[in-house]
Amino acid sequence: MKKNVWNQYKEEDISFLNRICDDYREFLSISKTERETVYHSISLLEKKGFRSLDDYIENNQSLQAGDKIYVNNRGKALALFVIGDEDITKGMNILGAHIDSPRLDLKATPLYEEKGFAYLDTHYYGGIKKYQWVTLPLALHGVVAFKNGEVLPICIGEDEKDPVFGITDLLPHLGKEQLKKEAEKVIEGEGLDLLIGSQPMNEEEDAVKKHILSILKEKYQMDEDDFLSAEIEVVPAGRARDFGLDRSMIMGYGQDDKVCAYTSLRAFLDVDRCARTTSCILVDKEEIGSVGATGMESSFYENAIHEICALLGYMEPTAVSRCLSHSYMLSSDVNAAYDPLYSDVMDERNASFFNQGVVFCKYTGSRGKSGSNDASAEFLAKIRNVMDSEKIAFQISELGKVDAGGGGTIAYVLANRNVNVVDCGVGVLSMHAPWEVTAKADIFEAYKCYVAFLKQMR
Ligand SMILES: [Zn+2]
Repeated sequence: MKKNVWNQYKEEDISFLNRICDDYREFLSISKTERETVYHSISLLEKKGFRSLDDYIENNQSLQAGDKIYVNNRGKALALFVIGDEDITKGMNILGAHIDSPRLDLKATPLYEEKGFAYLDTHYYGGIKKYQWVTLPLALHGVVAFKNGEVLPICIGEDEKDPVFGITDLLPHLGKEQLKKEAEKVIEGEGLDLLIGSQPMNEEEDAVKKHILSILKEKYQMDEDDFLSAEIEVVPAGRARDFGLDRSMIMGYGQDDKVCAYTSLRAFLDVDRCARTTSCILVDKEEIGSVGATGMESSFYENAIHEICALLGYMEPTAVSRCLSHSYMLSSDVNAAYDPLYSDVMDERNASFFNQGVVFCKYTGSRGKSGSNDASAEFLAKIRNVMDSEKIAFQISELGKVDAGGGGTIAYVLANRNVNVVDCGVGVLSMHAPWEVTAKADIFEAYKCYVAFLKQMR
């Protein structure tokens, strides 16, 4: 039954919990985009002896038990494998999380001047409440790809000496009509324009914009046209922080789903070699439907398994389908935790609570489970067995009341490939807001759950 897990912790549990959460807070602070997450993950993987799959292919090198491989898909998604002692066609234990988060993307032609102000026009990405993004310090993260093939990383607004950017709001004194609007209309998509400058270069027309362009040229060798081949994301500026006087929670941007991505990656790195082959997938584009080359729907992951099977000596195509149909996967994604301030959209008996452990979601979807992955009872029974034998605190939840809404994850994608998949992650307050909140005890239980799953699921 549901209990607050803090009461079960001994001193050594709390010091382990703090180590995991301190490392997570650091990782979250520097990994705000999918590209940054891939970059920082690879540096952790290489320290642990992981090698790129391309390396094996180029050197015509076969794989053995204990080999550790990473596959980098365009710098925005990763597939990881540690070859187990058992035959790979008997299946793998897979953790999968997404590393994209809701944000504002710059449009292709973003820069304009209006009445002495220079702005960058944006197009929001993922499900956001637009009114939450005004009057916040914002940062620019991303890359500019030049015609000569060079790719320049951009990160402005995170260093204390950096400037920040922002979207203005109307003062309440003049907001009488604005405040009568529905919340969805208070700030509209085309109103999310980032203020980035006000000092003119000279007395000519559009001199504020020209000044911005001269700074871009000087600091980033960038012309206005280079925005055409840039991917720049506008995200909240600043680091993740401990939250609450008791420091029992963490506030940070992009915890959906970096909280599951980090704990999955950390578990995967800490577990090392197992009897079964273990795998971890960190993918992009979940927030817009898992589409595209770097999303879960891409054949990238299955292609990687084909390559792995071939390097293990399995040339027949049945090896991959056998491997998949015998595999188990935790789709590590966040859940909407019970919030007493918004209790009317939650079914208390089927909700997840802070400090009650990792959350399993048998099915997600909306209305009549539309778009859901519905995990089988037999699979859930096996998981319960592993969780109980390792004394891991877990809870089973739905995403809010039946008709209140709903949501999706990457779970259905590999389920469609005949893998046993269930959603399993961390509860979040203020999900999809610029600053989301999680509970440290749940982060710790998720980490332990992923370790147990990788080691023991069979
Ligand atoms: Zn999300």
